[in-house]
Amino acid sequence: MRRPLELYIHIPFCARKCLYCDFLSQTASEMVCHGYVEQLLEEIGCQSGYYQGYEVVTIYIGGGTPSILKAEDIQAVMEAVKKNFRVDRGAEITIEANPGTVSREKLEAYLDCGINRISLGLQSADDRELKTLGRIHTFDEFLKTYQRVREAGFHNVNVDLMSALPGQTLSSWRSTMKKVTMMKPEHISAYSLMIEEGTLFYEMYHDHPELLPTEEEDREIYYASKAFLREQGYERYEISNYARPGFECRHNIGYWTGVEYLGLGLGASSYIQNFRFSNEADLETYRKINMRGEDADQRLHQNISELSQREQMEEFMILGLRMSRGVSGSEFIRRFGLNMWNVYGDALHRLQENRLIEVESPWVRLTDFGVDISNYVLSEFLFDREPD
Ligand code: SF4
Repeated sequence: MRRPLELYIHIPFCARKCLYCDFLSQTASEMVCHGYVEQLLEEIGCQSGYYQGYEVVTIYIGGGTPSILKAEDIQAVMEAVKKNFRVDRGAEITIEANPGTVSREKLEAYLDCGINRISLGLQSADDRELKTLGRIHTFDEFLKTYQRVREAGFHNVNVDLMSALPGQTLSSWRSTMKKVTMMKPEHISAYSLMIEEGTLFYEMYHDHPELLPTEEEDREIYYASKAFLREQGYERYEISNYARPGFECRHNIGYWTGVEYLGLGLGASSYIQNFRFSNEADLETYRKINMRGEDADQRLHQNISELSQREQMEEFMILGLRMSRGVSGSEFIRRFGLNMWNVYGDALHRLQENRLIEVESPWVRLTDFGVDISNYVLSEFLFDREPD
């Protein structure tokens, strides 16, 4: 039996840097992009040797903006993956794309090389909010892209949205929701904006939180989304993700349930046989690595750490509880040979008494109240937590 493996392939280029973005992405010339792809192909060819006992069950080409690359570059990446890895015939293969970078020709090329899911970055259907975020597109441009995606023949489409934006109100959010659900994507992700250090937004808003919606307003948006999306046929299956039945993102579910994943490309993270590591994150240094050299792995892989059993249990709880179905006590025993209630009894009883989790044996899941303060609830499963 081959072990299941997820592949994440990072494309670190964007047309312009959004003002809130702290992802590993930058603008670059066509030549730099192409040079990067050549190096990525080398990495795929050389690293795949370690994974012959695996079967790739999902592939996620993310960024950055992968759709900024030429169609033939994406095709070359997919060909290299298929040539070097064993890919399950039913694998879910996603590409991230942003309006303004997607032509009909590119979409057809994606479908031709086996990509069967597309994730479109919209964030908001309000042009004023899009401008505030520094996005390169308007809602109208998004609509045209969406139509093109459907006409090309994609049957599994995600739309990314973002709440807690500067100037956003419950009514502008509702209007975004309405406009998006009218288009009937199969999947909607709705994350709250995080103000990250090192971004322009940090300079603009870190000392002026009064310019952003309050946490209460964001929770109101969350509840409004959940209720409205359910009416429209979308179930929340993870704190920030909604899908029509059968269209939950398999790749992300893999992350939350401990499936091994290999990250390829600049800065990409991996989790293999209880080891976490990430690729070199400096573009120039990454490009200079001789992927066939004897020291390639040392130069490519950074921050290598082996997870102890306690850390694996923490991850099992913290990532698993993000999912609406929760975590299963039977699965805990299968993985760790221990009873979840013996390991985490105190925390579980305390959280249950405070109605932050609910138990439906063997499942344990967050309640709505638990989701509201999920950072606190999830931190209860850290062994070396600072005492309250
Ligand atoms: S498109 Fe995405 S990755 Fe690129 S700058 Fe904007 S938020 Fe960052």
